Amino acid sequence: MLADKDRIFTNVYGFQPWGLKAAQQRGDWDDNKSLMAKGQDSIIEEIKASGLRGRGGAGFPTGMQWSFMPKEPAPGRPNFLVINADESEPGSCKDREIIRHDPHKLIEGALLAGFAMRARAGYIYIRGEFIRETETLEAAVAEAYEAGLLGKNAAKSGYDFDLFVHRGAGAYICGEETAMLESLEGKPGKPRLKPPFPAGAGLYGCPTTVNNVESIAVVPTILRRGAAWFAGIGRPKNEGTKLFQISGHVNRPCVVEDAMSVPFRELIDRHAGGIRGGWDNLLAVIPGGSSVPLVPAAEIVDAPMDFDGLKDLGSGLGTAAIIVMDKSTDVVKAISRISYFYKHESCGQCTPCREGTGWMWRVMERLVDGNAESHEIDTLLDVTKQVEGHTICALGDAAAWPIQGLIRHVRPELERRIAARRGPGDAPPIMEAAE
Ligand code: SF4
Repeated sequence: MLADKDRIFTNVYGFQPWGLKAAQQRGDWDDNKSLMAKGQDSIIEEIKASGLRGRGGAGFPTGMQWSFMPKEPAPGRPNFLVINADESEPGSCKDREIIRHDPHKLIEGALLAGFAMRARAGYIYIRGEFIRETETLEAAVAEAYEAGLLGKNAAKSGYDFDLFVHRGAGAYICGEETAMLESLEGKPGKPRLKPPFPAGAGLYGCPTTVNNVESIAVVPTILRRGAAWFAGIGRPKNEGTKLFQISGHVNRPCVVEDAMSVPFRELIDRHAGGIRGGWDNLLAVIPGGSSVPLVPAAEIVDAPMDFDGLKDLGSGLGTAAIIVMDKSTDVVKAISRISYFYKHESCGQCTPCREGTGWMWRVMERLVDGNAESHEIDTLLDVTKQVEGHTICALGDAAAWPIQGLIRHVRPELERRIAARRGPGDAPPIMEAAE
């Protein structure tokens, strides 16, 4: 259990004002100059030692990612920091809380991260639908400029750093880092082939690091309290605190900061008031946002909520957007709806994704009603495997994994629906009869 004294986001519910004065009273920007005086390389080493892994879903070690940036930017090829605030994964709703109520944690983190990776400019790419959040963020950035915390000689550090807020137009795919760079450059948000990776050729062809809002917003506190403090929370390789977003069939849906690796049952009972109708009523959980496979109730109740714990269950922590489903859920319909989302958000560049997401969704819709033949379940599984790993970006995987999870855990229910629709007296379809 995370002690109150170890919370990073002390204003996540907005009980206090978000503005600079209140943020400073909460400790933000406190002696920022001496944090920067530690030096660029030692900041990177500190973040590495803290064990911080990217909070946007992939879980890549943040300090290591920063170390890929050139230490001496070539003339005409400046380093850039891009902050991903395009929070669009169904179930995810943590970055918007940081921006609404604690934007100065993000802005201070941007200065420290930008300084460490030798960037002179940072861009916060914010989701188009976040209208009020954009207003808050822009006002907070203006306050920081006014107070001399950004711009020339930022926070009296002797380092010049500018920060820009850029609003997207509401396309989910722009949350993919290279699509985000395309969009920032004014082009349609279509992911790029990798390599080259953004650290080599990113925004305007220059070295770029793209980090999630939460990953950047925790940096000032890690540097103030020390890597050992952060690394002392959670399990090895899964360190630190985390904003969990608990939605669905719990008594009190919420966004809450707790220690990484907290057991699922403890997290739900303590913060979300338990499962609606009690623990015996739990059916399944999608633990990391809509793109990760579901986990049946029996497997998740005692599982540690972290990267490795959920990977061991064949799922993932993702953004820690926990979607709880009780026994009233039509789980086949739920996954079919998720399939529709990915079909709708595919950018259409690669054939397996463009054609496969629509094909998978149409089969899923028929499976909801049992309007299919048994062998189509295997065909569907086979198609998910052909989409997975064969596309330019991870949207193809995100479309395939929920269906794979469904077939892995709920296949008897799919078979039951097919049999029920056929009726007891009906002859089996010709193909099955011939087998
Ligand atoms: Fe576009 Fe889908 Fe290919 Fe990603 S996987 S580039 S979203 S078509």
